[in-house]
Amino acid sequence: MPTIPARSFATQRLQAGQSIKITNTSGGQVIDTWAFSVPETPTSTFPRYMSMIHTRSTLRKLLPAPGEAFVDNKRDPILSLVEDASPGVHDTLFAACSPERYVQLGGTAEHDSCAVNLYEAVKTRDEPCFEAVRGFLGCGWVPDPLNLFMNVGVGGGRVQTVEPVTRPGDYVVLRAERECVVFMSACPMDIAACNGGEPTSAEFAVL
Ligand SMILES: [Zn+2]
Repeated sequence: MPTIPARSFATQRLQAGQSIKITNTSGGQVIDTWAFSVPETPTSTFPRYMSMIHTRSTLRKLLPAPGEAFVDNKRDPILSLVEDASPGVHDTLFAACSPERYVQLGGTAEHDSCAVNLYEAVKTRDEPCFEAVRGFLGCGWVPDPLNLFMNVGVGGGRVQTVEPVTRPGDYVVLRAERECVVFMSACPMDIAACNGGEPTSAEFAVL
C-alpha cells in the first residue's frame, strides 16, 4: 500500500468515481488533506479546491456524514465521504501547521509543516493547472485543510486541540465526484497534542 511518509506528503490523482482509502496506520496520526480539481481545459484562473468553510456552510454542520460530500469553493461536491471506519472525529476548523505556527509555539521556522508539504507536493505535479496553484501558494495562500483524525474540542466558544481518539488501522474512504488530485500531509506537529506523540507515517490506496 502506498505510504504517506512521516512528516512528509503524498499525492494521488483520482478520476470521477474513484475512491481513496486513507488509513491511520499508527492510530494517532493526523492527515491534512486537500483536493484540487483538474479542469478539462487548463486555465490560469483561480483554482477550484475542496473548501472547509463552504462545506460547513452548505451542510450547516462541522463535518459531512457518510453519504454526504465535501464541496469546493463553488459549492459543488468534490469528495464524498463514503465510509468512516474511525470514531468519526475529524477537524475542519484548524489551519494547516506552518512555519509561523512553529515559531509561535517556541519552535523554529525550519520545522517541517503541512503548509510547506502542500507547496512541495503541488510542485511535484506536472498537470498544467497546478502552475497557477503553485503561484497562489507561493504568495502565501493555503486552503483550509480537512484534518483527518484530528480531535478538536469545541465548546463554550473555544476550540482546543486534544489527544486523538483513533485506533491503529482506522480509515476513511473518500470518493471523487469529479477529476481531482488529493494532497495528503502526515502532520509533523510534535509540540501540540494533535498526533498523540511522535509523528508517524500513514497509508492510502485507490479503490
Ligand atoms: Zn500539520
